[in-house]
Amino acid sequence: MQKFNVDNSYQRLPDSFFKRTTPTPVADPQWISFNQPLADQLDLPQQYWASDEGLQLFAGNSLPDWSDPVAQGYAGHQFANFVAQLGDGRAILLAEIIDKQKRRFDIQLKGAGTTAYSRGGDGRSPIGPVIREYLLSEAMHVLGVPTTRALAAVATGETVHRDVPQPGAILTRVASSHIRIGTFQFIAAHQGTGKVQVLADYVINRHYPDCKSAERPYLAMLEAVIQKQAELVSHWMSLGFIHGVMNTDNMSISGETIDYGPCAFIDNYHPDALFSSIDRGGRYAYSNQPKVAQWNLARLAECLVPLIDKDEEKAVELATEALKTFSQTYEDLWLTRMAAKIGIREPQPEDRALLNELLDLMADDEVDFTLLFRALCDSLEADHCLDLFKQQSACKTWLQKWRQRLSQESASGEETALQMRLINPAIIPRNHRVQEAILAAEQEGDLRPFNELKAALAEPFSDNPEYQHLTLAPKPEEKVQRTFC
Ligand code: AMP
Ligand code: MG
Ligand code: MG
Repeated sequence: MQKFNVDNSYQRLPDSFFKRTTPTPVADPQWISFNQPLADQLDLPQQYWASDEGLQLFAGNSLPDWSDPVAQGYAGHQFANFVAQLGDGRAILLAEIIDKQKRRFDIQLKGAGTTAYSRGGDGRSPIGPVIREYLLSEAMHVLGVPTTRALAAVATGETVHRDVPQPGAILTRVASSHIRIGTFQFIAAHQGTGKVQVLADYVINRHYPDCKSAERPYLAMLEAVIQKQAELVSHWMSLGFIHGVMNTDNMSISGETIDYGPCAFIDNYHPDALFSSIDRGGRYAYSNQPKVAQWNLARLAECLVPLIDKDEEKAVELATEALKTFSQTYEDLWLTRMAAKIGIREPQPEDRALLNELLDLMADDEVDFTLLFRALCDSLEADHCLDLFKQQSACKTWLQKWRQRLSQESASGEETALQMRLINPAIIPRNHRVQEAILAAEQEGDLRPFNELKAALAEPFSDNPEYQHLTLAPKPEEKVQRTFC
C-alpha cells in the first residue's frame, strides 16, 4: 500500500472516553459522491479513490487494518436541557490521518449502524441528511468558513424508517477533531477532574499547542476556544447561515462548524429567521446565534473551572472575565466582516449604524440576503440593487450615504468592487435547491441535481452563466419554510 500517515491518538486516551464499536455492514453499497481533492489533500491512498475497495470502506463493510473504530462519548445541553449521556449514536470514528501539511484529521463514518450510545435509535441516516451535509459542508469550506468536510457519501441499498421509508446512506466526515463542548461535559459529569485534565491536555496538544506555555494553560485554552467560536459565528452571520441546532454537543472545540442538521441559509433577510423543524421556541434563530455561542462557552468554562485555579472563587472570576470578552470580540469581528461586504476595509464605529440601517431596510422589504450583497458589488455607480427593494427611495438614500462613506476609503472604486465580489457569493446552497437535490435522489435515485449543485458550489464567487439559475432566489411556491435533520 502507498505510504500513508495514520495515528489513532484518541484511542490511546482512557477507555472511559469512548467505546470500541465496529460499523454494521450494509446490503448493497453504491457511490453517491467521492471528494477527490480532499482525498488528495489527506494523502489517502489511491486504492480507495472512488474504487470498490473505497466503497466497501466508506460503507463500513470492510475495515482496513489502519482503522481502530470507536464511538466517542459526549453529553450536552439540548435546547438548554442537560443530557448526561449522548455520544456517537450513529457515528463511528475510524482513524486519524495526518495530511500532507502534517495536520491531523478524524475520519468518521456517519450512519454506520448502532453503537453503545444509540439510545434506541437505528444508527442509520436517510439519504437526505447525507446529501445536505455533503453540499453544505463543502460549500462552507469553499466560502472560507471553518467546517467539517465530506470525503465520501455512499448509498447503503437499505431502507431507513422515519416518517416514511427512505433510502439509507453513509457520510464520511472529516474533522480536525470531533471533540465538542459536550465531550468536556461528559467527562466532567461522570469521571472527575483528573480525567477532564487528561482531555484538556489532549485538546491543548492537538488544537492549541501555544497554550502550553501560558501562565494558566487551561484558561488560555478557554480563551482560544472563545476566540475561535466568535470568529466562526461572525462568519456564519456574514453569510446568512443558521446552524439550527447549536446544542453544546454540536459545538466543536476546534471552532469548526459541525453537525449540519436542520441548518439553512437565509433567503429573504429577517433577524428572527428560523427554519429548523425542531426549534419551536426559536432558541437558535439567526440573530440569537452569538448569544447562544456565549452561553455554550459558559458550559465549557464550568468544566474547566477546577483546572483553572485551586481557589474556586478565583477560577470562576478568571473564567467569567474570559467569557465576557466574547461579546466585544464577536462585535469587532462582525463589524470587520460586514463592513468588508459593503467594501469598507477600514471600519469605523459609525459603520455599524450604516450596516444596521441597511439590514433594517432589508428586513422591512424581505430582501434576499445573498442577492443584495452581490448586487451591491455592481452598485458603486449604478443603482443595481434597487429592484430588490419595495421602498426604493429609502434604498436610494442609503446608497448615497454608502457611496459617500466609500469615498473616504483609500481603495479605488474598481478595487473595492473586485474585493467585494470575492467575499459576497453569487451561489450558496439555497434551501430550495438543496431540497430539490434531496428529493430527486430520494425518490428517483437521480443524482443529477446534486451533482450540478455540488459543481456550482465549488465556484461560489464566479458569474458562470451555466449556473445562473442557481443564483436566483426561490419563487414563492419554491420557498422552503422548514428544514429537517
Ligand atoms: P444531533 O441532533 O444530530 O446532534 O444528535 C443528537 C444525538 O442523537 C447524538 O447523540 C446522535 O448520535 C444521536 N442520534 C441521532 N440520530 C440517531 C440515529 N438514527 N440513531 C442513533 N442515534 C442517533
Ligand atoms: Mg450532533
Ligand atoms: Mg445531527
